[in-house]
Amino acid sequence: MPRRRLRDLVPDSPVMEDPTRFPDRMRIHSRGPVDGTLDLPGSKSLTNRALLCATLADGTSTLTRVLDADDTRVMIHCLTRLGGSVTKTGETVTVQGTGGSLHASPQPLDVAASGTTARFITAAATIADGPSIIDGTPRMRRRPIGELLATLLSLGADVEVLGEEGGLPVRVAGGGLAGGHAVIDARRSSQFVSAIALAAPYAARDTSLEFRDGVLVSRPYVESTIEVMRAFGVHAELHQKGMQVPRGEYQPILYEVEPDASAAAYPLVAAAITAGSVTLPGFRRDSSQADLAILDVLTAMGCRVEWTGSEVTLTGPAHGLQGVEVDMGRMPDAVLAVAVAAAFATGSTRLTNVSNLRIKESDRLAALETELRKMGVEAEAGPDWLSVRSGLVHGAEIDTYEDHRMAMAFTLAGLVVPGVVIRDPGCVAKTWPTFFEDLERLWPEGGRVARVPAEDGGTTTRLVVAIDGPGGAGKTTVSRGVADRLNLPHLDTGAFYRAAALAVIRSEVDPDDAGLVAEVVRNAEYDYRDGVMLLDDEDVNDAIRRPEVTSYASKLSVVAAVREVLVGHQRAWVERQGGSAVVEGRDIGTVVFPDALVKIFITARPEVRAIRRAGELTDSAESLAGIALELERRDRRDSTRKTSPLRSAPDAVAVDTSDMTIDEVIDRILEEVGQRSAGS
Ligand code: C5P
Repeated sequence: MPRRRLRDLVPDSPVMEDPTRFPDRMRIHSRGPVDGTLDLPGSKSLTNRALLCATLADGTSTLTRVLDADDTRVMIHCLTRLGGSVTKTGETVTVQGTGGSLHASPQPLDVAASGTTARFITAAATIADGPSIIDGTPRMRRRPIGELLATLLSLGADVEVLGEEGGLPVRVAGGGLAGGHAVIDARRSSQFVSAIALAAPYAARDTSLEFRDGVLVSRPYVESTIEVMRAFGVHAELHQKGMQVPRGEYQPILYEVEPDASAAAYPLVAAAITAGSVTLPGFRRDSSQADLAILDVLTAMGCRVEWTGSEVTLTGPAHGLQGVEVDMGRMPDAVLAVAVAAAFATGSTRLTNVSNLRIKESDRLAALETELRKMGVEAEAGPDWLSVRSGLVHGAEIDTYEDHRMAMAFTLAGLVVPGVVIRDPGCVAKTWPTFFEDLERLWPEGGRVARVPAEDGGTTTRLVVAIDGPGGAGKTTVSRGVADRLNLPHLDTGAFYRAAALAVIRSEVDPDDAGLVAEVVRNAEYDYRDGVMLLDDEDVNDAIRRPEVTSYASKLSVVAAVREVLVGHQRAWVERQGGSAVVEGRDIGTVVFPDALVKIFITARPEVRAIRRAGELTDSAESLAGIALELERRDRRDSTRKTSPLRSAPDAVAVDTSDMTIDEVIDRILEEVGQRSAGS
């Protein structure tokens, strides 16, 4: 599904990032260790909090190092609709405050995909002088807001849910907040608490919030809210089980936004996994931004961290990271970057207390599990935990689920292993539009990280393991095992030739008439699902193993027109799987996927192959000598045919399986996959 662009949502707004500057897919170049200093964009959380305070303040405020990204542009757009006046010059923003008198917006306030804007603007709209409607993207409509509305109601506001699923759009009547005491359910999002706290100084009375069951998730974000409110002159207090917000007025000020600690996670992990070094200026050691605790997590994984004044430098370990077990409850946004670091660590990693990742921009736990597995990493997501164990990590096409953090985190993985392609890289614009360019600054020699669009239809960015060889050498068993271990789909191309042979036998056309035969093969439908060969939607797995089919398949495979049709189907099948697969046959490394990253040519001594084949056959009447003879006949036909004869590709690795166990062969191939992935 194409990303719903902010521009489509707010057509009259000039504020959005140009989505056309990003390609649909982007290939990441694996690079050496990072070594650089990066001025990060301002914190999204602090920017949006400061923008709201400045709009409510009485007078002109100046905000510096303001983050310019979709989420902050959406906030500015909504605040302007409510009567604020915001002028931007680079990273500096001047805000003419309203002195607390927000004007109701005649048009709906579109918060797009911004969670902070949705919650903050809903609460702020209660003090406007009339009704407003607040709406967002389909995903935003499904994100929770009911707890916030319930508490606003008990604080005297008039709010109504218009959305079918209990979320946005909502109608807020305006006319003021009474304030007083209320219970708030802050188990799913701290933004409900921050939203009320930011608006509450303009209530008729002091406000006191009590957390239901004494629980406040992601507490540090509320600490950040209090810090910003304090800078603007209102002193709210946070306790273990609740908070107090006095009546008051925000003062106009000059406010410098601290760099974004959630953004810091990406360059820090880049240094950690490439055994490089990165310096990030502008942070306070006692920063209220909880995501900075990623420094402790990376230290536990083996990195070195040094502070010099307001600069922090992290150096990745030369001999690899160690897995960790860590409670990420205080820094949910850092989970994605840490999960990618864990994919390159020895030992396993367990990230706990992360249930609210399921209701972020995407279901991040499910997304991480799926995409890490695509790369060969052993990942498993539970209700509130994620476990990650490195494997034979390889490139893959990564789906990003319209989630900026998915795109940024997996870009890092692409710095280490080749073949990572990021789909919809433009989703980074939500919080960091210049992410890719900024990342490039981390190498002193410069050069591109990811601005090159992935070539369409190419096979070089994908992981194809081509396994060729004669019958009875053990290809199928071994290929299935390799596919299993790499978490890749497996394709037995021989089954296509067998199915085509069956189609011809059933059609009763003259098997020696190449033209008619090719016609039958062309008109049949083939699919291969979970190891089952389907011919015109019928499961033909047993039928194609019959001796007459085996024998005719070998003859049929000599016909060039037949090969052309079947090779087309085989390539299309791999494409449908996302471009990566373990593919076995006779001509995979030479013809079907000549660009395959890994090519294996499996052989075994003739007598060993005959014994193995005999074990596979259901019809035990056939003698071993007969089987050996038939194998030899097929070998000769396969190797001497004009089109795509059975032969080893020049760059294939030969493996003689005669005296090896299946596991030994699989391990040997995986070793080759590891070497080729690292070296390409
Ligand atoms: O591998 P399997 O024995 O199932 O293959 C059946 C026949 O299909 C082989 O004898 C071979 O002639 C043909 N074949 C081919 N090219 C492939 C796979 C199989 O020609 N890639």
